[in-house]
Amino acid sequence: MKLPLSLLNPNMSSGSGSLMWFRKGLRIHDNPALEYAARGSTCVYPLFVIDPHYMEPDPNAFSPGSTRAGINRIRFLLDSLADLDSSLKKLGSRLLVLKGEPGEVLIRCLNEWDVKKLCFEYDTDPYYQALDNKVKNHASAAGIEVFSPVSHTLFNPADIIEKNGGRPPLTYQSFLKLAGEPEWACSPLSVELSSIPPVGNVGRCEILQVPTLKELGYVEEDQDEFTPFRGGESEALKRLRETLSDKEWVANFEKPKGDPSAYIKPATTVLSPYLKFGCLSSRYFYQCLKDVYKNVKRHTSPPVSLVGQLLWREFFYTAAFGTPNFDKMKGNKICKQIPWNGDDKLLASWREARTGFPWIDAIMVQLRKWGWVHHLARHSVACFLTRGDLFVHWEKGRDVFERLLIDSDWAINNGNWLWLSCSSFFYQYNRIYSPISFGRKYDPNGNYIRHFLPVLKDMPKEYIYEPWTAPLSVQTKAKCIIGKDYPKPVVSHDTASKECKKIMGEAYALNQRLNGVVSDEELRKLRRKLDEGDEEQEPKPKRLRQKLTN
Ligand code: FAD
Repeated sequence: MKLPLSLLNPNMSSGSGSLMWFRKGLRIHDNPALEYAARGSTCVYPLFVIDPHYMEPDPNAFSPGSTRAGINRIRFLLDSLADLDSSLKKLGSRLLVLKGEPGEVLIRCLNEWDVKKLCFEYDTDPYYQALDNKVKNHASAAGIEVFSPVSHTLFNPADIIEKNGGRPPLTYQSFLKLAGEPEWACSPLSVELSSIPPVGNVGRCEILQVPTLKELGYVEEDQDEFTPFRGGESEALKRLRETLSDKEWVANFEKPKGDPSAYIKPATTVLSPYLKFGCLSSRYFYQCLKDVYKNVKRHTSPPVSLVGQLLWREFFYTAAFGTPNFDKMKGNKICKQIPWNGDDKLLASWREARTGFPWIDAIMVQLRKWGWVHHLARHSVACFLTRGDLFVHWEKGRDVFERLLIDSDWAINNGNWLWLSCSSFFYQYNRIYSPISFGRKYDPNGNYIRHFLPVLKDMPKEYIYEPWTAPLSVQTKAKCIIGKDYPKPVVSHDTASKECKKIMGEAYALNQRLNGVVSDEELRKLRRKLDEGDEEQEPKPKRLRQKLTN
C-alpha cells in the first residue's frame, strides 16, 4: 500500500520548501529555475545527483573515464559542482550531492523532503526528456508544483518548430527568419541573487560533499595530460569578461576565418564547455555581445559573427529536438543513407592518432589531451574519417567526440557530424579538406604539429605535413623514421578521396531514386556493386589496407 505523502514526511504540510534540481545550468546568474525555487520558499534543497552510470570509472573504455565520458569532462563537471557549491554557500545555502539513479533519487527526495515546488531547467536531450517525464509525473501526482523553464538556449525549440508548421527549419537562413529576436531580450536578465533560503531538513538522506576524481575511483596518472580549461561559473564569467574586454575582436569576429592551429591563444572564445554545462548562460552571453555591438561603429553579422555562432547552436538544438532519431543514420528522415564501412582498424588509427597524417594526428592528440579543438580542426578530422578519406560511419566518429570533448553536446555534436559527413544540411561532398595542405595554409612551419606530436619536432618544415616523403637521411637526422617512430599514412589521400567521392555520388543517386527511403538491402547491394566494380581494377579492401601496412 502506498502511504499518503503527508504521512511519509510529517514536516511536509508545514513549510513551503522547494527542490532545485541541478543537471546542466550549473550557475547562479540567469537561472530562472533557481530564482523561482528561492522565491517565497521557507527552504530550498539545491540538489545534484551523481549518476554512477555516467560518473564511475570504466576500465574497459578506450580512454580514461567512465562509460560515457572521458576523464577531462568528468573533471570539468566536478570543478563546476565545487564552484557552484562555493557560490551557494556565499548565499547561505550549499549543494546537496546524492548518488544513485537520478529518477529514483529524485522520487525519494520528493517523498521524504519538505517540497512544494520542484524546479529544474528544461532540457531537450532525449535522456532528460524521458527522465523528466517520469519525475514530473510523480511530482504532479503528489501535488507538487513543477517549474521547468527554458533557459539553456536562447529560444524554445518547440516554439520555432510550431512557427514552422510542426517541422524544424533545416537551413540556417530559414531558422533565422523564423527565430527573430528572442522574447526575453528586450528586458534585462536577472544576473544576481542576494540570498537563498536555508537548506531544509534532509532526514535520513546521506548527503555527500562534491567528490574529487580520486574519490570517484579515478587514477589521475592514467591521463598523460589534463585539459588546461577548468570548469565552473567563476571561470566562465572570467573568460567571458576577458573575451568582451577586446571589443574590436568581438565586433570583427568572423568564422570560419581564424587559425585552427592556434593553441597558445585559441582563435575562438573556448566558451563551449561552459555553455555545455550551463556554467555560462547563453542568454547572458548573447546580451553581452549585443551590448558590445551597440558601442562599436561596425560589427559582423550572422552566420559569421559571435552572435551568429550562438545561433548555430540554436539551429542545431531545434533541428535535433524536432527530428526523430537525429543521432542515427537509420530511421532519421533528414539523413542520407550511405554505405559507410565498418573498418575498426581504420577507426582505431584515427582515434589513436596513428593515421600517419600529422595534421590529423596532432588534432586527435589535442582532442584526447585537452578535450577541445578548434572548429576547423574538428572539420578536418571529421571529414577525413568519413567522406574525405576513410569512409568510416559518422556515428563512430561522433561517439569518439562525444566521449572526449569537454563541450560534448548531444544536439550540436550530432548536428555537426551529420553536416561534415554530408549526411544532412551540407551536401557538397566534392569539397574535401586535404589532410596535407589545409593545415599548412595556417601553420607552414608546423608548430602545432611539433607541439602535439613531439616525435616530429625536428622534422624540417618542407616535410612536416608529409613526413613519409622525406628522404631517409632527413628522417634519420630528425630522429623520426617513418614506419618505425611515426606511422606511414593509412591511405593515399589522392586515391582514397577520389574513391570516397565516387561512393558518395552513387549513394546520393540511390537516395534520390528511392526518395530517401533506402533499405538495408539496397545499401548492401550498393556496397557490393562498388566493391565488385573496384575488384575489376584492383580489389578495394586490399587497396585501402595496402596503405595501412606499407
Ligand atoms: P566560438 O566560435 O567562440 O563560438 C561561441 C559558441 O557558439 C560556442 O561555444 C558554441 O556554443 C557555439 N557554436 C560555435 N560554432 C558552432 C557550431 N558549428 N554549431 C553549434 N554551435 C556552435 N560544439 C559543441 O559545443 N559541442 C559539441 O559536441 C560539438 N561537436 C562538434 C563536432 C564536429 C564534428 C564539429 C565540426 C563541430 C562541433 N561543435 C561542437 C561545434 C564547434 O566546433 C564548437 O562549438 C566550437 O569550436 C567551440 O569553440 P568556441 O567556444 O571557441 O566557439
